[in-house]
Amino acid sequence: PIALELADVTRRYGDTAAVDGVSIRVRQGEFFTLVGPSGCGKTTTLRLIGGFEAPSSGTVRFGDRDVAGVPPEDRDVGVVFQNYALFPHMTVGENVAYGLRFADPPGDVSREERVTELLDLVDLPGMTDRDPDELSGGQRQRVAIARALAPGPEVLLLDEPMSALDAKLRERLRMQVRSIQRELDITTVYVTHDQEEALAVSDRVAVMNAGQVEQVDTPRRVYRRP
Ligand code: ADP
Ligand code: ADP
Repeated sequence: PIALELADVTRRYGDTAAVDGVSIRVRQGEFFTLVGPSGCGKTTTLRLIGGFEAPSSGTVRFGDRDVAGVPPEDRDVGVVFQNYALFPHMTVGENVAYGLRFADPPGDVSREERVTELLDLVDLPGMTDRDPDELSGGQRQRVAIARALAPGPEVLLLDEPMSALDAKLRERLRMQVRSIQRELDITTVYVTHDQEEALAVSDRVAVMNAGQVEQVDTPRRVYRRP
């Protein structure tokens, strides 16, 4: 089944189209990556999916639901943007619990239990009372992912979550992200300008250029072409 669909979506800023007639369909449980050079429209596409931006034209659907006008907090998405940092004055646990500000935890668990569960999931067991500044960059990004996942969203949106890390940490974090994604079987849209990263983690890749999607395919097939 299709978890989300963009049909001929355009987003203009003044005279320029940041996203220009993009159509994509992301399957349930798929790890789907938008890849392409800086400025090609990846973040704008992600923000359109998340509801942080409205399309100038075209439709965005979650399942068979048209989500035009539905705000992010009602859209059942978890988001980790590149520079959407943790709150430094809150503990790790409080940062994760912040993800539950609009929603109760899924299932029959308390907020505290949910936080514990999520920190286990992102391989930070027992870190609830730590301060963010005691953590490494990779650990902090995992806390941000735990926060995004707290309400049990249908879709996870990740915008260059590794970009601030060095190569070795980046590789480790992307394996962790992939394994979390598999464990939850959560539909994920991932944004990166790094082809190698896209190749390593994705089920399918949409190659973007100048606001348009040029190809959508498995990483092997995309990168085998001349
Ligand atoms: P990417 O994520 O691939 O780097 P973006 O989606 O951030 O690309 O940007 C695509 C294009 O749209 C760029 O040319 C960018 O300058 C422009 N753009 C993005 N957001 C805005 C905005 N709020 N106002 C004006 N132009 C924007
Ligand atoms: P850039 O393309 O310059 O890197 P981003 O697209 O990453 O910028 O910026 C995302 C913006 O959206 C941030 O400035 C932040 O304020 C806002 N944002 C990101 N995530 C959330 C969220 N979960 N809730 C509310 N606002 C958010």
